[in-house]
Amino acid sequence: MVGQLGGIPVLVLREGSERTQGREAQSTNINAAKAVASAVRTTLGPKGMDKMLVDSLGDVVITNDGATILNEMDIESPAAKMMIEVAKTVDEVAGDGTKTSVVIGGELLKKAEELLEQKIHPSVITSGYRLAAERARKVLEEIATDIDIDNDEELKKIARTAITGKFGESYRDFLSEIAIKAVKAITETGHGGKRVVDTDNISVEKKVGGRIGETELVQGMVLDKEVVHPEMPRKVEDAKIALINAALEVKKTETSAEVKVTSSDQLKGFLDEEERTMHRMAERIKESGANVVICQKGIDDVVQYYLAKDGIVAVRRAKKSDMEKLGKATGGKIVTNVDEISGSDLGHAGLVEERKIAEDKMLFIEECENPHAVSIVIRGGAEHVVDEVERALHDMLRVTGCIIEDGKAVAGGGAVETELALRVREYSASLKGREQLAVENFAAAVEIIPRTLAENSGFDPIDKLVELKAAHERGEKNAGLDAYTGKIVDMWQGGVIEPLRTKKQSVESAVEAATMILRIDDVIASKREAMPAGGAPPGGMGMGGGGMPPGGMAPY
Ligand code: ADP
Ligand code: MG
Repeated sequence: MVGQLGGIPVLVLREGSERTQGREAQSTNINAAKAVASAVRTTLGPKGMDKMLVDSLGDVVITNDGATILNEMDIESPAAKMMIEVAKTVDEVAGDGTKTSVVIGGELLKKAEELLEQKIHPSVITSGYRLAAERARKVLEEIATDIDIDNDEELKKIARTAITGKFGESYRDFLSEIAIKAVKAITETGHGGKRVVDTDNISVEKKVGGRIGETELVQGMVLDKEVVHPEMPRKVEDAKIALINAALEVKKTETSAEVKVTSSDQLKGFLDEEERTMHRMAERIKESGANVVICQKGIDDVVQYYLAKDGIVAVRRAKKSDMEKLGKATGGKIVTNVDEISGSDLGHAGLVEERKIAEDKMLFIEECENPHAVSIVIRGGAEHVVDEVERALHDMLRVTGCIIEDGKAVAGGGAVETELALRVREYSASLKGREQLAVENFAAAVEIIPRTLAENSGFDPIDKLVELKAAHERGEKNAGLDAYTGKIVDMWQGGVIEPLRTKKQSVESAVEAATMILRIDDVIASKREAMPAGGAPPGGMGMGGGGMPPGGMAPY
């Protein structure tokens, strides 16, 4: 490292660090973020293309789902990662609109570049974008329309719009009905009569085998578990459920032999201490009054035998998340010490039954104490089918949840973006100075959505945009592009409707990503720690020699 005499600037960065500054740093970042946007662009809308994602292990996912595509992209550039982070926020807040957000974000940056070339300072651009975003939010609220949330047909339009382009027409209908029923079942009334939807309360189980049409909504919980012992009943009415987070077994000593217990005669031979302990576990459970045991850990054969003898149903190794949901659903308490279990810890359900789904057995816990507990069992002919149904359901559940909570929606198909562009452009005329240019560019940037929808559906983007703008100037605020016919139609009438919250979040997050990236003028990247290649590990004694193979690990 250079550590010379006076006149030479102090070196603060470690050797090997990389630094780019000013315009160069900006354009590197902008280009990286734009690259993410342009990769996503082709997938936007009902006629958008799919992506084939191959991970480092060679596993393949083919999907059109924005959140999945963005999640799976193995990206190095920090600016590109920022775009992805922002898209994740959209997914968390709204459950849909991730691609819209990334595409608008990319376009905002492209439009910002034009201004940077005209020597407009980034801070002027970002403050212009913020002004525009503020106005956009107001416009969105103004043009949003109330939805009658008791009208399932209205809700269906919104749920269906979230998955246009996926599956056939009839499955879209079918799945949206399931989503609406599920969301309605878990809707609670919070403070001041506000409706609250937490879609995490809907459990989703996937089972390969059968058709999508066999996907069902269950009023209660479904565990992908089978009853542990053949002698246990397969069906229990008026179930009293013990939720146990403790191993129903005794730690075996090294020498103890495998014990398979099938008859009481055999049993007598093994009545040692271990066994008495296990017998006591089963007794405690029985004394509590439980007739169903859901155990988060293992259940020893001996305990199984005694439970079976008492007609108690048990499943083991339930997922932690399921245990928590079961607690909520059945009103039971999760017990960590079997010795202390009592009747008041038990949960209740009208029916617990093991049923065969495809080739597997699953445990259904129905008529739960809490009517807000629902599950969806997804079916489909292959793994990638059930996965795609799961992703689609996720979008539909979230979108329906947003609508039930907020009750406000806007017209899709590029209608809302065209109206937004028009009104933000009008607003820009009222501004002075260079910020005005940024606000104008913001308006042009949101038009990327109708343009992209046209492009992805095989229509001329310029022609369509001109037609759309003309319609909106005539006051047709819901005019959008029908991706199937290429006609400019009233999207509200056409049933292409999206929650206000999704659009608001898409725009807000796009602006956030773009402004964050624009404000960076210096990128300082420290040197990547290289893995020791072969030889002795650093500072080690050369034991074993090997160490990690170079490049054997992902960079983060
Ligand atoms: P995102 O991740 O942003 O939700 P999508 O690929 O789901 O991306 O596309 C959403 C866009 O497609 C929205 O602008 C929506 O209005 C539009 N869209 C949905 N259905 C139609 C349709 N039938 N015709 C035109 N546009 C549609
Ligand atoms: Mg979508």
